[in-house]
Amino acid sequence: MTTIHRVFNFAAGPAVMPVPVLEEMQRDLLALPGVGISIFEISHRSKEFEAILAQAEADIRTLASIPGNYRVLFLQGGASLQFSMVPMNLLDAGATADYIDTGSWAEKAIKEAKKVGNVHVAASTKADNYSRIPSAPEIRLTGGAAYVHMTSNNTIEGTEWKTIPSTGDLPLVSDTSSDMFSRPIDVAKHALIYAGAQKNMGPAGLTLVIIREDLLERSKARAQSLPTMMNYAVHAENKSLYNTPPAVAVYATGLVMKWLIAQGGLAAIAAVNERKAAKLYAEIDRSGFYRGTAAKDSRSLMNVTFRLPSEELEKTFVQDATAAGLDGLKGHRAVGGMRASIYNAFPEAGVDALVSFMQDFERRRG
Ligand code: PMP
Repeated sequence: MTTIHRVFNFAAGPAVMPVPVLEEMQRDLLALPGVGISIFEISHRSKEFEAILAQAEADIRTLASIPGNYRVLFLQGGASLQFSMVPMNLLDAGATADYIDTGSWAEKAIKEAKKVGNVHVAASTKADNYSRIPSAPEIRLTGGAAYVHMTSNNTIEGTEWKTIPSTGDLPLVSDTSSDMFSRPIDVAKHALIYAGAQKNMGPAGLTLVIIREDLLERSKARAQSLPTMMNYAVHAENKSLYNTPPAVAVYATGLVMKWLIAQGGLAAIAAVNERKAAKLYAEIDRSGFYRGTAAKDSRSLMNVTFRLPSEELEKTFVQDATAAGLDGLKGHRAVGGMRASIYNAFPEAGVDALVSFMQDFERRRG
């Protein structure tokens, strides 16, 4: 028998998945029970696949308590395509969209929206290296804006909104790619939520969109001008089966949702996530050798970013950590430093191992 060796994978996405989900996929890889066909082979028009998709949607609805007037869409193109689809569907000529600029991904969303229409940056923490989330008084919204766009967790900088900003009647659009289902989410406060699956939901290839039904009218009004594949209303009318969906990613995400429900749902996983992050931040703050890069009140529970006293030491830290079975700790190339991504499925034992490694590294190199 070969033994399977899994390292602790701190990658930001694609990222670690729950082991029971991988085991179930492995067990059923050749043939889905009762179907006799692999998920890799099954027709997306089969009733069996339709049932898999419907079950994934039902479990997503249960987990996030999604109200009935929201549609759940399984799309492709990543969160990056949503940077374009959101304004293409929702931003009328002559109208303005407000964007809150909290990091590199928000910047990319702004860049794409500007190609479609008028953009107003309602707040930005760029001058502070995106080390914090703006306070309520800093956010200047445009009366009658088409929507307000925010990034709930800034994957690269390691910051996270602790409360949803109040936008009054303006529709709130949130890129939740890196904290979706890591904590309870008040869907009713949003008009549209989108997230790439490859961090907290499943494998890459699937993009989840949760959209309030009234916004679909804006898409319908653009039926003639919008490319069909870019039109939310088309995907909603066709129940995400307008074209071939990423069947394997939908299936795997469905299994992760079942796993999350078995963990006790979003409040329960949030408690675990808070405990895991608190252990790491406590170590970062303990001696001054490590330095957290995010302001304390903005610290992300998903992506923990920190620096060492020199880039030289950071290089050695990554090398030694990798050798010790702690993989993927190098920060994003845009900001440097370290980043420990500790999504839902990341085991607490891996956090404990990193804390021990950090203490040992400081003893040897501090
Ligand atoms: N938004 C955020 C917050 C992200 O973290 C990422 C990916 N790391 C993206 C958008 C882009 O996602 P994708 O690669 O799925 O296009």
